[in-house]
Amino acid sequence: MSSDWFDALVNELSRLPGIGRRTAARLAFALVDDRELSRSLSDVLRRTFEMIHECPVCRNLTDSEMCQVCLDRSRGNSLCVVENVADLKSIDEAGLFRGRFFVLHGLLSPLDGIGPTQLGFDRLVALVRETGAPEVILALDATADGEATCSWLGRALEPTGTRVTRLARGLPSGASVEMIDSGTLVQAFEGRQKI
Ligand SMILES: [Zn+2]
Repeated sequence: MSSDWFDALVNELSRLPGIGRRTAARLAFALVDDRELSRSLSDVLRRTFEMIHECPVCRNLTDSEMCQVCLDRSRGNSLCVVENVADLKSIDEAGLFRGRFFVLHGLLSPLDGIGPTQLGFDRLVALVRETGAPEVILALDATADGEATCSWLGRALEPTGTRVTRLARGLPSGASVEMIDSGTLVQAFEGRQKI
């Protein structure tokens, strides 16, 4: 099968992370074959994107005024800074950390025009001051952009007097937080270091 609409579907699917053109074509065939699946998937996608927005406190995605993490009063005031919502879920579901989160929605990448403003650094610093967070854990990827983001944040947070730590041992060089197994994540958390 080859037509403009099919190619368009494959093109969109292949923009998802980890999906090459072969997989995208398989998914496209599955969607074309199952109209009920296609309809419910498009309904869920539309509903999701009509309702979700960034939590005004931590930039997690939510369909209510504030996200579930911020509403949970049993959590401590330490903050874990993550690149995206997938990383937040990985760390939260591993049960390693019972504090609050802050989602950057990216890493510093000046060549792509992503700087401290886009990542909400000012809001993060203000949040640390407001909550008096005793520790800020930078749970960011061990990549060049991740390193650059850590050192920027280390400097930006220094005047607040909070203890700034980052994930270390266990996180392989070039690895993404979202992709590593929970055992490695436990090690990385336990081996976090002050920066
Ligand atoms: Zn929140």
